[in-house]
Amino acid sequence: VSDLASLMDVSIPEIISACMSLGIMASINQRLDGETLTIVAEEFGYEVEFTSAEGQEAIAVEEDKPEDLQDRAPIVTVMGHVDHGKTSLLDYIRKENVIGGEAGGITQHIGAYSVELENGKRITFLDTPGHEAFTAMRARGAQVTDLAIIVVAADDDVMPQTKEAINHAQAAGIPMIFAINKIDKEGAKPERIKEQLAQMNILVEDWGGKFQSQEISAKKGLNIEELLEKVLLEAEVLELKANPDKNAIGTVIESTLDKGRGYVTTIIVEGGTLNVGDIVLAGHYTGRVKAMYNERGVAVKSAGPSIPVSMLGLNGAPSAGDRFNVLKDEREARGIATRREQLQREQGVRTQKHITLDEIGRRIAIGDFKELNIILKGDVDGSVEALADSLQKLSTEKIAVNVIHKAVGQITESDVLLATASDAIIVGFQVRPSGGARRLAEKEEIQIKIYSIIYAAIEDVKDAMEGMLSAKI
Ligand code: GDP
Repeated sequence: VSDLASLMDVSIPEIISACMSLGIMASINQRLDGETLTIVAEEFGYEVEFTSAEGQEAIAVEEDKPEDLQDRAPIVTVMGHVDHGKTSLLDYIRKENVIGGEAGGITQHIGAYSVELENGKRITFLDTPGHEAFTAMRARGAQVTDLAIIVVAADDDVMPQTKEAINHAQAAGIPMIFAINKIDKEGAKPERIKEQLAQMNILVEDWGGKFQSQEISAKKGLNIEELLEKVLLEAEVLELKANPDKNAIGTVIESTLDKGRGYVTTIIVEGGTLNVGDIVLAGHYTGRVKAMYNERGVAVKSAGPSIPVSMLGLNGAPSAGDRFNVLKDEREARGIATRREQLQREQGVRTQKHITLDEIGRRIAIGDFKELNIILKGDVDGSVEALADSLQKLSTEKIAVNVIHKAVGQITESDVLLATASDAIIVGFQVRPSGGARRLAEKEEIQIKIYSIIYAAIEDVKDAMEGMLSAKI
């Protein structure tokens, strides 16, 4: 508050009262979020320009010229219900020579691997299957995955976690390919799976829809090549490109402390090329890249876009989903790391403010609110469907109400992660959050509203959208 006052050359009480008119009780030393800053500054005739995300130091990002962009490999996450064959699929692709020319399977687990197909094209797989890991990364602001393979076992049904995976992928806006697995099994009924998907409005291609699907056996290795070809086809549509000729940027996939080698950090390069000797800043850790290894345990000197490597040299273990940058100056990198650590301590782990029903009115008033995302959990299917329907119908021209995930059952940590990643509120109808979900929601500041009357839930959301809720309370 005081910094803003002096920047704009107005008095501190003026800033404080501007904040108050927005419903924010600010003190002199209060840190304001980006949105509040913008509005308050506007009131005094200033326009705010952000040089980086909130709480992040400005690190000069090199602009890419169109002619510098080259094709890059798609990065794929495998999701689906437990026991439907996610791990088997990842293991098969890892171990077998699906792959032309590359000798020897991949034996190491570094959190991601990249395979080459016969046509010379590559696909990178994230080696932690499941939508929880995927959404946890998104909740930290990282969207590494370009497309999802949803595995459904043909001797089973489309299950709750299949639906959850679909909703998580859709909330992230990434394309899906369906791998209908276990077709080697007696009693496998792939057509029934397609029918069940159709009931969810997911039409696969042979049903006249847009979603590619492939019947496979992950165990026997049937049709895996065909599946991978479909991944490439889907990726082509996405026109994935990156500039390899600049300082690397990317995302941390996992990190561990190895007794002999120190911190081992697996990263995926998004743009640029990472080289041994580079000065890396990841989360609030830094270091010079001492060595890098690919998923075959082979030392490499450099890694370009979409390539995963495990690197040695950081002075700590950043979290999965943290961004990394390469900087020119080691002192500068250390300085930023220290400031980030301080900031994190000050603010707790929270980095982003999430929506609550009470806040909607204010956000609408300032015109930056267009979508209300809701995650809906209930005790029985009928009421979940009815409530979802009524909530979506509250959509107006100005605000769309999206039920991004609905299901029967308790509110879980995975729901909270999805809410964090998609800035959603959680509505529970006759269900409560699990202990873990409640704790995570508190930490991430995700609003969970519990109702036992459908009408009350609808009224609350409606009032919130009309900006009435705070007046009522
Ligand atoms: P995940 O929980 O989705 O990772 O599932 P897993 O990959 O661990 O597989 C669960 C079980 O299904 C294991 O016993 C696998 O051997 C088996 N399985 C996976 N894929 C196939 C398949 O294509 N055919 C058959 N018959 N069994 C499979």
